[in-house]
Amino acid sequence: MMFNSIRRVAIVGGTHGNEWTGIYLVKKFEQFPELIARSSFEMITLLGNPKAIAANRRYIDQDLNRCFSHEDLSNPTLTSYEEQRAKAIAAQLGPKENPQVDFIIDLHSSTANMGLTILPSSTDLFNLRLCGYLSQIDPAVRITLGIACHQDMPMLRSLSPLGCTIEVGAIAQGVLDARHLQQTEMLVHAILDYLDAINQGNPMPVPSSMTVYQAIESIDYPRNSSGELQAMIHPQLQFKDYAPLQDGDPMFLSFTGESIFYREEKVVYPVFINEAAYYEKKIAMTLTSKQQFKLDAT
Ligand SMILES: [Zn+2]
Repeated sequence: MMFNSIRRVAIVGGTHGNEWTGIYLVKKFEQFPELIARSSFEMITLLGNPKAIAANRRYIDQDLNRCFSHEDLSNPTLTSYEEQRAKAIAAQLGPKENPQVDFIIDLHSSTANMGLTILPSSTDLFNLRLCGYLSQIDPAVRITLGIACHQDMPMLRSLSPLGCTIEVGAIAQGVLDARHLQQTEMLVHAILDYLDAINQGNPMPVPSSMTVYQAIESIDYPRNSSGELQAMIHPQLQFKDYAPLQDGDPMFLSFTGESIFYREEKVVYPVFINEAAYYEKKIAMTLTSKQQFKLDAT
């Protein structure tokens, strides 16, 4: 895409109503807007799902962060609470083909041990160079590309081609961990400073390449014919997000004590292992491949 400058940036928290890190950070930024003010662009802050936040639930009727496909946004018959919220948010930040904001930061947390994960909104080189910068200033930052990383994915971040989701964990739903909140805040400031520096004509240095984790597929738990769980995440895999999983490594432990093993030659790097919100999505983990991505293309 053609890049002119970043004129408006949106920070969203509480897209999921029980992920308190982003909710309390957005509330803090709304109380002290000078913290996120930068001279070269305008800031917008937004709490994505107020009713779910009040109820301390992920959502009221359905997952808001799956309501942003182009088709659903333009379907007037979809009127659940989250479908209405998605349309209202798209009216404020979007539409996708001509967004009113140039960059969206969507703040999330995970019960999986995601550490500090950035999920860029697109594989636009602008986004990926920013990711490279963030992983250079803090090697704990990991860059993960979703299975569907295109502009019609149903996530809120897809309202703008530039931007990212920040996913921190492991943290329980409805809980604050000061360390996660501070790390997320540090990342937000690093992103805003990076964007501001580009606008000022003094871009930050970016490494020539970075490690990315490319999602391959999501794996469900073993279930019986009624859909009931037959096994749990294996204790040796719990909290091992981003660690290599090799042929013969245990993945699940059945309730009768039998281990279920990974049986593929390809080494993969599971993420979102045992994410509480994903049981209903039939996702026990997402397998990724670890790749080097060149950033010095000119
Ligand atoms: Zn979330």
